[in-house]
Amino acid sequence: QRAASRSTKEWQDADSKHFFHPFTDHGGLAKKGARIITRAENIYIWDSEGHKILDGMSGLWCVNTGYGQQALVDAAAKQMKELPFYNAFFQTSTPPAIELAELLAEVTPPQFKHVFFTSSGSEGNDTVVRMVRRYWDIKGQPERKTIIGRINGYHGSTMAGASLGGMSGMHAQGGLPIPDIVHIQQPHWFELGQGMSREAFGLKAAGWLEEKILEVGPERVAAFIGEPVQGAGGVIVPPSTYWPEIQRICDKYGILLVSDEVICGFGRTGNWFGCETMGTRPDLMTFAKGVTSGYVPLGGVMVGERVAQALIDDGGEFNHGFTYSGHPVACAVALANIKLIQQLNLVSHVKNNIGPYLAERFAELNDHPLVGETQTCGMMGAVQLVKAKPGTTFASELEVGMVCRAHCFGNGLIMRAVGDRMIVAPPLVMTRPQIDEMMVLIRRCLDLTLAEVRE
Ligand code: PLP
Repeated sequence: QRAASRSTKEWQDADSKHFFHPFTDHGGLAKKGARIITRAENIYIWDSEGHKILDGMSGLWCVNTGYGQQALVDAAAKQMKELPFYNAFFQTSTPPAIELAELLAEVTPPQFKHVFFTSSGSEGNDTVVRMVRRYWDIKGQPERKTIIGRINGYHGSTMAGASLGGMSGMHAQGGLPIPDIVHIQQPHWFELGQGMSREAFGLKAAGWLEEKILEVGPERVAAFIGEPVQGAGGVIVPPSTYWPEIQRICDKYGILLVSDEVICGFGRTGNWFGCETMGTRPDLMTFAKGVTSGYVPLGGVMVGERVAQALIDDGGEFNHGFTYSGHPVACAVALANIKLIQQLNLVSHVKNNIGPYLAERFAELNDHPLVGETQTCGMMGAVQLVKAKPGTTFASELEVGMVCRAHCFGNGLIMRAVGDRMIVAPPLVMTRPQIDEMMVLIRRCLDLTLAEVRE
């Protein structure tokens, strides 16, 4: 057991000395030390002090089938023995990559027959930028370069991914966005739409896309990218009117629609993909995370018929690719994972059982004095913390969300804070009794937070 070979303090000291962490305040890390996670099973993780924690975030929105799935372990081990690596460049291919491409064509919407593999969601979205530009070059409209994303959208950490995303903190470090990427506001009713019906606000928010297209000039706009439900932005579930109107606007101007399904894919929203829940027909779709339930890194871009016809049938060589595009071990694990989702009927489990139950239980939180709004979509949920109902927010420097997150951590629950919005996205194998268990913890943490911030 590697975890037992050193004390928690020894792990923490070595960690803060040598590990440059992603998205981590290193000042805080040096003071308090990292929580060392040593093992996991089903929907629970354990730390090096033996504390059991309910993982309300599926790691980073990825462990859809839960921890400890032996079929995934076996698939990786078998593939590592048989063929641990071979690439997909220069007219070579491998059986797991071919079989996974076939299976993805089966479980994704009908316009998708081709997949381009990457190792992550960020690489997938970088690939989208290159594919979109190549598409319009082939179509003889190279001036169509501008891609429109959304404020607080998250599309990854590479230069193009972070540019497509609309996180101001990321843009501020490194002079982003790169040229020809612009943003519109997010469809966040609680922040931007109060006083209007949600439906009317959905149409208004979609209208911001048309305004931006006209501002840039329709002949210069290449694509629009969005997450069906903004995840890292705070689980912003858009009004039902939003996405159909976005689709109508993209169609009107002939603009490519890109659905970032890195979080919403593979059952999270109660359908295989979030675009099905939202009623859109994207031209490109990025995925990662849930494709392997995070057991090994894999991502990719589903290429719809419109783009495939140009890039694959007529396009010659696409000068783009990664050493690990179609990595056989990652593909073997993804195959086993998708088959497990099918065997366990996880998509309908989310749609007809635990998704509606999570919605019901989250709605009950509205009676709590700290809660201004709750939202869910499938197995994603958000609790907006407020100073006073209905919508008076706390001063941001109070960092009430962080206070609540610390109480969650201390009480055996992983919940993420996005400002004062507390969010969950638990594994899709969760049961109703486990949702009840999570709700007891959430309520306890809200009470503790209330006691701390209202004094
Ligand atoms: N797109 C979305 C919607 C995401 O949530 C993420 C990661 O959280 C990414 C892209 C980037 O994926 P990765 O971290 O695998 O590069």
